[in-house]
Order: sequence, then structure tokens, then C-alpha cells
Amino acid sequence: MPETIFSKIVRKEIPAKIVFEDEWSLAFHDLNAKAPVHVLIIPKRQIDSLEHASEEDASLLGHLQIVIQQVARQLGIHESGYRVIMNCGRDGGQSVGHIHYHLLGGRAMDWPPG
Ligand code: 5GP
Repeated sequence: MPETIFSKIVRKEIPAKIVFEDEWSLAFHDLNAKAPVHVLIIPKRQIDSLEHASEEDASLLGHLQIVIQQVARQLGIHESGYRVIMNCGRDGGQSVGHIHYHLLGGRAMDWPPG
């Protein structure tokens, strides 16, 4: 599995605006924000995509969702609401092969997404 830019962010080899970190996860602002709040939540351990996740990754993926909740509270979008997205594969629009959730908020979201 080829390493991505996200592994370099995890190792602090390249800068990112980190908003949350613990033993298993990292959350940082997206470089190309699509909403007033656009944060990426990633596991420190690389999994390429949801397609390549296994049952053993279930607690890690669940933990990331609780991290999303904490980050949303920290950034003050928990009451207005937010959207959580995970793109998977080519048709899903995934461009970085290190699994990640997008947390988007600070404005009303359209539905359905494009
Ligand atoms: P995907 O398209 O894979 O679902 O999302 C990848 C996201 O990573 C994109 O929204 C893109 O803007 C963001 N991104 C790519 N490279 C970097 C980077 O070096 N730093 C940060 N903070 N975000 C990045």
C-alpha cells in the first residue's frame, strides 16, 4: 500500500492545521476547504479505503466517528449541524488513498451531493 501525504502529516513531516490528536487519530483542516468548516479525520494507521477495511478496523472507524463529534463541538458546529462524508474509490471521488472522513459545516448543505 503506497504511503500518501497523510502519513507525512501524521509524522509531522509536513505542516497541517491540526485540531485534534490522540493515540489513534488525527484531525486537521482540509487544504481546499469546501465549507466554512472542513476538517479531515484520519486514523494514524493507514487503511487505503473503506473497501479495504476489515472487521478488525471496526473499533478504529467507530472511534473516528466519536472524534468527529468532539471536533464538531470544539469548532462550534454541533448545534447547527454538519455533514460527514467518506469518499470511496474512483466513482466515490476519493483522491487520497488513506481512509478519511470529511467533516463539513458552518453552512447548510445541499442534498443530494453531486
Ligand atoms: P478525498 O478526495 O480523497 O475524499 O479527499 C482528500 C482531501 O484531502 C481533499 O479534500 C483535499 O483537499 C485534501 N488534501 C489533499 N492534500 C492535502 C494536504 O496536503 N493537506 C491538507 N490539509 N489537505 C489535503
